[in-house]
Amino acid sequence: MKNDSCPHENLVATAARTGKWEESLIAHANECVVCREVKEVAVWMGSLAGQFENEPVPHEKLVWLRSLIREEQARQDRALRPLAVAQGILVLGATAWLAVPQTQSIGVLLTAFSPT
Ligand SMILES: [Zn+2]
Repeated sequence: MKNDSCPHENLVATAARTGKWEESLIAHANECVVCREVKEVAVWMGSLAGQFENEPVPHEKLVWLRSLIREEQARQDRALRPLAVAQGILVLGATAWLAVPQTQSIGVLLTAFSPT
């Protein structure tokens, strides 16, 4: 049976995040597969977070305005979707009309759309 948890996981994660390790915990993390993975992930996440540490946080009004703009764009996209579908149908119909020889097109269309 696979052992996918360890009672020392939280201690290892805290130590990896803070950099404060006890000797016994280091020894355990080097031997325990679960804690070794927790340590690697915690160190990786710490380095990832460190990359954005000096990034300026955008002003709250800017974030709010961006959300309003995205919401409006999504609303417009939803409103225009039926027109895009209709346009696609018209293009397909026009293409089909042009693909059929003109002398037979009326007869073909009447046959295709006539009730049976
Ligand atoms: Zn462990």
